[in-house]
Order: sequence, then structure tokens, then C-alpha cells
Amino acid sequence: VRPLGPPLRIKRRTAWELAHRPRLDEIGAGLRRLAAQADEDAARQELDRALRAAVAVLPRSPYYAACLRQHGVAVGDLRGLADLTALPMLDRAAYRSAWDALPTGDLAGAVVVKSSGSTGEPVSVVREPFEQLHMWGVLGFWLTQLGLTLPPRPRIVLLDPLPSALEYSVRVRVVGDGRGALHRLSLLHPRVRERLERADPAVIFGDPVGLHWWGRVRPRARPKLLLTSAQHFAPTDRAVISDPVVNYYATTETGPLAWECLTTAGVFHVLAPDVWLESVAGELVVTRLRPTVVPLLRYRTGDRGHVARHACPCGFHGWSIHGLDGRHACAFVRPDGASVDAWQLAALFKQVALDAFQLEQTARDRFVLRALPFADEPRLLADLDEALRRLGWTARTIARAPVAPPVGAKPEPFRRSFA
Ligand SMILES: [Zn+2]
Repeated sequence: VRPLGPPLRIKRRTAWELAHRPRLDEIGAGLRRLAAQADEDAARQELDRALRAAVAVLPRSPYYAACLRQHGVAVGDLRGLADLTALPMLDRAAYRSAWDALPTGDLAGAVVVKSSGSTGEPVSVVREPFEQLHMWGVLGFWLTQLGLTLPPRPRIVLLDPLPSALEYSVRVRVVGDGRGALHRLSLLHPRVRERLERADPAVIFGDPVGLHWWGRVRPRARPKLLLTSAQHFAPTDRAVISDPVVNYYATTETGPLAWECLTTAGVFHVLAPDVWLESVAGELVVTRLRPTVVPLLRYRTGDRGHVARHACPCGFHGWSIHGLDGRHACAFVRPDGASVDAWQLAALFKQVALDAFQLEQTARDRFVLRALPFADEPRLLADLDEALRRLGWTARTIARAPVAPPVGAKPEPFRRSFA
């Protein structure tokens, strides 16, 4: 086991967040309003209005200004969702080359993040300061939708499985009573369980790795809500956790898009009016309707699913994704016969595009890692070996094949080739 340094504490100024509270409250209110809107015409009218506001800024985006000219479309032609087809779709390759021409210009405080996403090479994404807080507005919506209220001074824990083992604590001014805190805890630090219990969080953000750990260790804490994203989350994982879990679908380029119904597994409710999703030939295509300095219209996610409007038994009214297939589910089999969700290992490969590697289990104790040689490879292999050991492979062999993984319509970073 690699020695870990002392926990890193970062104190960050958070007073700037307060100025965004009204906008965050608006995000939550909009999501609640649409989720309760049983009248489809009224819902569409609201989305059409949101689209008209969103496209008003397009002439200030170099990419979209050129796009409108090229296709002979005026902003005034885009009156509603039905007019969107006048615009071409934006695929990942085009985004990758045009990322710095998308923003409208007001980029004070913006950051650039890299995404490996579920398809293809890393993409640079510009995020304005508000986008870094946006999730708090969506969290507020989920809490009310599930009938949950936060206690005073709510603590929020981010359970981090990454090898960087970065930890910090900051105040959070825009959640609950504004006196809460966010603690990022690394699963790799000793005593993470005790520290989590001491934090006694009301909300836990994790991923399937963190949630597996939670289900296994069962810390003495009663969060109101756990959240997971970014990777495949199986119904069997949900079954072992007694607290409510929101499994949301997001991409780095777009932010959160939808969340899996807690009543009907496999149905993802779309976060309108923040976003609008079309299904074009079975592919999910996103238009961001909330105002941002990085407009995004008809962005091809590369994920598959179809979108339909319905009144859900959970009380949600609106559009939902059915048959969402962004990531191939894959269960590895341990030497003792137990099944393990292979996507628990995805965090280790965060710096590698998902179509640039494939970890295949060829026998109960044998794996093959296919990838062209990449930077930091010895460390990743050591981390992978250690992760497999912790997951129950007391004996394991990882063969290294320095070849590109097979090319398919959708990357399959994890696969098992024996019954
Ligand atoms: Zn539902």
C-alpha cells in the first residue's frame, strides 16, 4: 500500500456563492414546477420560452454565430423546441475542436475541466462559476421531490475513491440554512469510517465505488440522501442500501440531465426546464435551456435511450429516458463466485479515455488490460492490483497487452469473457 500523506486541508473563500443563491433557488423552483405540471401544452410553452431566452445569446458565441450564418437561421426563427431541427447537431469531435469558441465571452472566474466521458478522447469544457454551484440547486429539487428536509448546519460528504486521495473541508453557503459544510473524504485514508461518522452527513455524494463501500461497511450515520453518478449503478447495489439513493445521469459537457426514478427502476426523469433531450435515431441529444455563458444546442451525448412523456407513479410529470444505455454493465466474478460490478474500477482509469483501454476478465483470477502504452502506467497497474485485492481477489494475474482495445459503436472498457 502506498503511504498516504496527512489529509490536505484547503480553506477556500465561499462568500461569492451567496450572490448566486437567488439563481439557485430559481433552478430548484423551475424543476419543481415542471415536475408537477400535468398539462403537457403548458409544460411545452414554458420550455419554448426557456429556449427563446437561451438562444438570444447565440450571436455572442463565435461558434454559434458562424453556425447560424452557415445554416441561414436567425435567432428569431427559433421560437420553440420544434424549431431546433433547423440547427445541426454538435458531436463530440466538433465540441473537442470548438470548445473555446462556444462561450459568449463573459468568462470571469471560469475554469476549464477535462472530461473523458463515456465515449472518445478527453474534451475540454469551460465552466463558469455558477455551473460549479448548479448541482446545489438540483439537490434542493431532489430533496423536496423526495419529501426530505435538511437539518440545521447540514454536512455534505463527498466520498472520493480516487488515488489522488485529496481531502478538504469548505463551508457551503447555498444549501439549506447556509451554515453547512462540505467535507471531501478519501476512501484511501485511514479511519475514513470514523471520520464519516463524526461528520454525520445529511447528504453523501459518491459513485458506485463509494456506495459499495457504504453498503459493505455500514457506518453509523443516517444520511437523508445518497447520490451516485457517472457510472453504471445496478439495482442490486440499490437493494443493499436502506437509505434513499438518487442515481443521476450527467455528462461533463452538459451537467446533470436526468435522475433514476426511485419507484420505477431504469426510468430516468429529465431535469426540465434546465435541459431538453431529444432522441435522434436512438441517440440522446441535449439542448441546455438554463442560461449559461456556454450555450449548447443539440449536443450528441453518444448515449442511447428514448424519451417519452408520462405521469410516473412516483408523482413526477414530464419527460423521461427509457432504456438509457450509456455504459455497458459488466459483472466480474470473484474466485469465491461472488459477482462484483466492474465499474467500481472505473475511477482508477479516470485519466484514460474509456475507449482507450479494456480490462477483460478471462478467468476467475485472470485479467487482461488492453491499451496502448500510456503515461503513469506502472502506478495505474499497482493501483489496479491493489483495488482487485481489496475487492476480494486474494490471488490475481493482470496481463498487459500493449494494443488498442477493439473498436465498437460504444466503448466497452470492462468485459468478462467466461461464463
Ligand atoms: Zn418516477
